[in-house]
Amino acid sequence: MIPGIRLVLLGKQGAGKGTQASYLARHYVVPHVSTGDMFREAVREGADLGRELKSYMDAGELVPDDLVIRLVVERLGRPDADRGFVLDGFPRTRPQAEALDQALDSRDGVEAVVNLLVPDDVVMRRLSGRRVCADCGANYHLEERLPREEGRCDQCGGRVVQRDDDTPAAIARRLALYAEATAPLVDFYRERGLLVEVDGLGTPIEVFDRLVKAVETRLGRA
Ligand code: AMP
Repeated sequence: MIPGIRLVLLGKQGAGKGTQASYLARHYVVPHVSTGDMFREAVREGADLGRELKSYMDAGELVPDDLVIRLVVERLGRPDADRGFVLDGFPRTRPQAEALDQALDSRDGVEAVVNLLVPDDVVMRRLSGRRVCADCGANYHLEERLPREEGRCDQCGGRVVQRDDDTPAAIARRLALYAEATAPLVDFYRERGLLVEVDGLGTPIEVFDRLVKAVETRLGRA
């Protein structure tokens, strides 16, 4: 049986974290915990929580730590996370990283933290052309990967749209926040001996192969 894993993915918006996290979660048979996806689902459901989250997300601002931490800790407490998890989009700030340490205190901590490296110009091109399925979250791109039928998701037939926070102003704000609040986590995890740096350029499968090799080497299982 494939062993589980407790893995964190770091990397700028548009680095390919979502795609790689879903491949990794399938590979290790653990849940893919994406705070962005969790929040977008809450927005779709409406209610007060969804409205509150949307106001931050549309502006490209970070959702306040206490709220994010509460939702993630709740999610990691569910039984399907017993074998582990792939965290995508969390932690994004130092207090979130510390809260994760604390939440995992009673079980084993994070085993590896992958920093997916992609240059800024590539990230900008990926984000500005990005289109997503409003129903299942599948990713498309105006120049590289259009759905077979215009505006319809290949996987579920849902509507393919531009994310509200993929506007130039929100993209710029999100990248600035990444540099300010999230990039310092690279050192935080490097100091703990958990960091694995992986080149995020290439086809999704090439990046995935590279990633699994790097993680397995880090865990001494390769
Ligand atoms: P993502 O899909 O990961 O780019 O997340 C979309 C948006 O959700 C971000 O721009 C933030 O507004 C919010 N968000 C997601 N994860 C976090 C987090 N860990 N801390 C604060 N805000 C977050």
